[in-house]
Amino acid sequence: MPEVTSQQPAIDGWFATGEAGVPHLIGSKCPECGTYVFPPRDNNCPNPGCDSDVLEAVALSTGGTLWSYTENRYPPPAPYPAPDRFEPFAIAAVELADEGLIVLGKVVEGTLAADLKVGMEMELTTMPLFTDDDGVERIVYAWKRASDDAVGAPPACGGRSDEEERRK
Ligand SMILES: [Zn+2]
Repeated sequence: MPEVTSQQPAIDGWFATGEAGVPHLIGSKCPECGTYVFPPRDNNCPNPGCDSDVLEAVALSTGGTLWSYTENRYPPPAPYPAPDRFEPFAIAAVELADEGLIVLGKVVEGTLAADLKVGMEMELTTMPLFTDDDGVERIVYAWKRASDDAVGAPPACGGRSDEEERRK
């Protein structure tokens, strides 16, 4: 595998990272009826009762609730870039908090179906999908459990670290 020299999205225009370093999906919204679409596109509102032919790009919610999930135990067929040693991974369908849109995506490494439960809070993140022949690491959006943020995080103000400090 070539050495990683830079990072690029695997597909342009599906997600962006905000100022605080938090990634969000980019969707489209119909200015006429408010219908959301993901992946983004410029026209053709999916609402059969709406005849708008223009959709506007919008930043979507960075989290939502787990609507459904599954686990992929076989490498997807080409052109999916399967690694030499395939590791099963989970796929989550997450209902976005504000839009109600359901967005399918890979779940981060280390979280499998047994770790997931319908209705749990999920957050958007990004992960490398593969490294191409030019050393460009291709990034995709992915879902992670919102509770995973707490793991390894420093204790809140006045937490155990103060206690430990005093014992020294
Ligand atoms: Zn519309």
